[in-house]
Amino acid sequence: MIYNCPISTCNSSTKNKLVIKDGRYKRACDSRKIQRFRCKVCGKKFSRATFSFEKYQKKRRVNHRIYRMLCDRSSMRSISRELNINYKTVARKVQYLAEKSRRRQRRFLKKLEKSQVQNMQFDDLITLEHTKMKPLSVSLAVDKKRRFVLGAEVSRIPAFGHLAKKSKKKYGFRENHHERGLNRLMEKNFIEQLIEML
Ligand SMILES: [Zn+2]
Repeated sequence: MIYNCPISTCNSSTKNKLVIKDGRYKRACDSRKIQRFRCKVCGKKFSRATFSFEKYQKKRRVNHRIYRMLCDRSSMRSISRELNINYKTVARKVQYLAEKSRRRQRRFLKKLEKSQVQNMQFDDLITLEHTKMKPLSVSLAVDKKRRFVLGAEVSRIPAFGHLAKKSKKKYGFRENHHERGLNRLMEKNFIEQLIEML
């Protein structure tokens, strides 16, 4: 791995060996040894962790377990009880994992650009905000053959069936954003390109 000096005003480069190794330190939160570097131009020190997305995290050990438990439909409160960590930590980890997944998906779609998607399918699944009277629709675009998720958009929809009247009475009029959600899905870069190709 090549590391350039993280100071934006510094114009050092690893090509001229201006960034050199400078010892290691033991990270307390996961007992890993982290390589430190020093820039010969500006004298600033940095480490492998400087460039990582998990920078400043104090509970790296639980990241993967939280991810697995969330995928396994555990609630945030039960995760905090199970792993003996604060609820707020779990809440922050959800944000972190979401951003990490978004990045992974973007990389994945970039790779997919080279291969041809032949059959695209659209479908919706219904879920809820915190009561069935506030339903949400998740529109999905998938590659039919390989079962890849190409895009997903969440939009709020009004309650339906026997809950429609009750919901309106309790929470007021709920706008239908489904069409907007579908438009957003279609306008996503990757999907737009695919539709043009068809
Ligand atoms: Zn520097």
